[in-house]
Amino acid sequence: MKYKTIIEPFRIKMVESIRMTTEKEREKFIKEAKYNLFLLKADDVIIDLLTDSGIAAMSSKQWSGMMIGDESYAGAKSWKKMESTIKDLTGYKHVLPTHQGRAAERILYGCMGGKGKTFISNTHFDTTRANIEFSNAEAIDCPTEIGKKPSAKHPFKGNMNVSKLTSTIKDKHQENVAGVILTVTNNSGGGQPVSMKNAREVSEICKKHNIPLIIDACRIAENAYFIKKREKEYKNHTYKEIAQEMFALADGCTMSAKKDGIVNMGGFLALNSQKLTEQCRNELIITEGFITYGGITGRDMEAIAIGLEEVFDPDYLQYRIASTTYLGKKLVQMGIPIMLPVGGHAVYIDAKSLYSHIPVDQYPGQALVCNLYLKGGIRSSEIGSVMFGKKEENGKRIYAPMELVRLAIPRRVYTQSHIDYVIEVFEQIKKEKIKAKGIKIVKEPKYLRHFTAHFKFI
Ligand SMILES: *Cc1c(COP(=O)(O)O)cnc(C)c1O
Repeated sequence: MKYKTIIEPFRIKMVESIRMTTEKEREKFIKEAKYNLFLLKADDVIIDLLTDSGIAAMSSKQWSGMMIGDESYAGAKSWKKMESTIKDLTGYKHVLPTHQGRAAERILYGCMGGKGKTFISNTHFDTTRANIEFSNAEAIDCPTEIGKKPSAKHPFKGNMNVSKLTSTIKDKHQENVAGVILTVTNNSGGGQPVSMKNAREVSEICKKHNIPLIIDACRIAENAYFIKKREKEYKNHTYKEIAQEMFALADGCTMSAKKDGIVNMGGFLALNSQKLTEQCRNELIITEGFITYGGITGRDMEAIAIGLEEVFDPDYLQYRIASTTYLGKKLVQMGIPIMLPVGGHAVYIDAKSLYSHIPVDQYPGQALVCNLYLKGGIRSSEIGSVMFGKKEENGKRIYAPMELVRLAIPRRVYTQSHIDYVIEVFEQIKKEKIKAKGIKIVKEPKYLRHFTAHFKFI
C-alpha cells in the first residue's frame, strides 16, 4: 500500500521552545521595530518564515560531524572533506570557502565587474545585485514574460528569457558583458525552477559570445527535484546527477550553504579558470581568511560536506517540496492569490492583488508583512518595491514589477501543525483585508534598504 500522507522523514531529538505572544504585545513590538520585521527580536516571533537561510535544523550526523571538525589554520581535514564533496558535486577545478554566499559574490563580482561592465541574470538576487552595483557594474534581469505573471502556470517560470539575453548582449556589446548568472531556483522571481533545456540554451549563448556563465547554486537540489518531476528525459536520473549536469554547463558557481547546504553558516565559490581563481584567492585572503577556511570554522566545513550529501536524499527532497506545496494549496483553496505553481522553498503571496485597494506607492507587500505579524506573530518578508524599488538621485521613486510577500519555509524546522496555524492566520487576514492600510517609508539607506528602513502605517 502506498499511503498519500507524506511524513516528515525524521524524528525530533532536540526541541526549542516558542514563546507565545498576544496581539496587544505584538502591536508594541512592531512599533518599536519601526514596522520593519528585520528589526524585531526573534524571541517575539511565533512562526519565523522570514527566510529559509541559515535556520535549518542540522541532522544528528551533521552534529556529530561538528565534534570531529578539524580547526587547523591550514590544510584542515574538514576543509579537504568539504573541498572534495564540492568538487565531486560541481566538477569545478577550484573551490574557495567563504563565510556565506554574499562573500563569494563580493569576491567574484569584485574581480569580474567594475565600471562599464554588465551582468545579465534570469533574476539577480538582492545581495548579488548589490555586490555587482557596488563594483560599479550594471545588473540586468532577463526573466521570461510568463515568469512575471504571478498567477500564470508554467513548469519552469524561473527560466532566463533567452531572446532578451541575446538582444541585451548585442545592445551592451559582448566585450562589456562580464558574466551571465543563472539563479537556480530563481529566488526573487518566485522560487521558481529553471529547466535543463533553458540552462543548456543559456550555456550555448554564453559560449558563442565568449561570456562566462556562473550558477547561483543556492537551491540547486530543489531545482533538480523539479527537473526530475517535470522534464521527461530526467525522470530516471538521480537528483545529484541532474545537479552535476547543470554545473557542467557553466564555468563556475557561488553558493550560500545556508540554503541547500542545510547549515547555519557557510558558503563557497567554485571556478574552472585558474587566472580568475588566483585573483579571487587574493581577495579571499585579505577579507575572509586563509584559502583553506575562508571565514568558516572546521566544524562548519564538516557540516557543509555532510549537508550537501543529505540534501540530495530523495525522501528529504520529496518531504521538502511537499511541505511547501501543502501551504500553497491551502492558501489557494481559501482564495489567497499566490505565485503559481508553488516554488521550492517558499510560498509567495501576490500582495498587489490581495490588497488591491493599496497603491504600489503605499507598499501593499510591506502592509501584509506587518499584518501577518500583528495577527499571528508570523514573520515573513516583502519581495516587492521595498526590496527592489529605489529612490534615484533626483528623488524619483522606482517601483518593482511585482509586490510579493514571501513565506519561506526553513529546512526540517516546522511540522504540519505549525503550517496549519499559519493557514488559520490567513483566514483572519482575508476577513480583514478591506481594512488594511498602506505604508510609507520614513527612513532608508542607499543599499539593501529593506534590511534597515523605517516605516509607518498611513
Ligand atoms: C541567500 C542567497 C544569496 C546570498 O547568500 P547569503 O548566504 O545570504 O550571503 C545569493 N543568492 C541567492 C539566490 C540566495 O538565495
